[in-house]
Amino acid sequence: MASERDLSTSRSLSDQVEELLAHEGPLPIVAAGDPVLRRSAEPFDGQLAPGLLARFVAALRATMHAAPGVGLAAPQVGVPLRLAVIEDPAPVSEEVRLVRGRVPQPFRVLVNPSYEGIGAERAVFFEGCLSVPGWQAVVPRHTEVRLRALDEEGRAVDEVFTGWPARIVQHETDHLDGVLYLDRAETRSLSSNQAMAERWGQPTPEEAAAALGFTLPG
Ligand code: ZN
Repeated sequence: MASERDLSTSRSLSDQVEELLAHEGPLPIVAAGDPVLRRSAEPFDGQLAPGLLARFVAALRATMHAAPGVGLAAPQVGVPLRLAVIEDPAPVSEEVRLVRGRVPQPFRVLVNPSYEGIGAERAVFFEGCLSVPGWQAVVPRHTEVRLRALDEEGRAVDEVFTGWPARIVQHETDHLDGVLYLDRAETRSLSSNQAMAERWGQPTPEEAAAALGFTLPG
């Protein structure tokens, strides 16, 4: 049974989402420096009624597409719930696909996700975040993870992700624990989008490591 306090929290989250959805177009994305990105988000437990949840998920998806991005977590639009969407059409060359394991990831809703690494292997590549616009950095990530979550219908998900989809799952789940990719990044690799476009388009960050002075693990 919910306490008074829980009920008022639920009401306010619901109101907050209704307010966000009252405006047309993509939702405003919260940038680093906002405390909502640094707090553990609240487990989803029906705070949004099914219809509102469906509308919110659709808005997250549209916002992710418009950005464009391959994942978006609810705290990134200011909503402190353990909820994220992922989707990656992976418009990359065959070489990049092979080296980074960037295969298409169909649209998925992750509710209350958690992950654990499988094995010791790490994949080390540049990544960016819609909440840290204009920058990318090299982040070592588990090559393979086991994801446990619920889907948008409340069905249990227990699934292994590898390659780029595994990176996306880790990045988005981290958001729900108040962790930004910069916390895990090789800070000397930090590169502007312009530097990325002009210099660091290679499939691996080896040249960047040599030129910027950071060590690739492994
Ligand atoms: Zn992010």
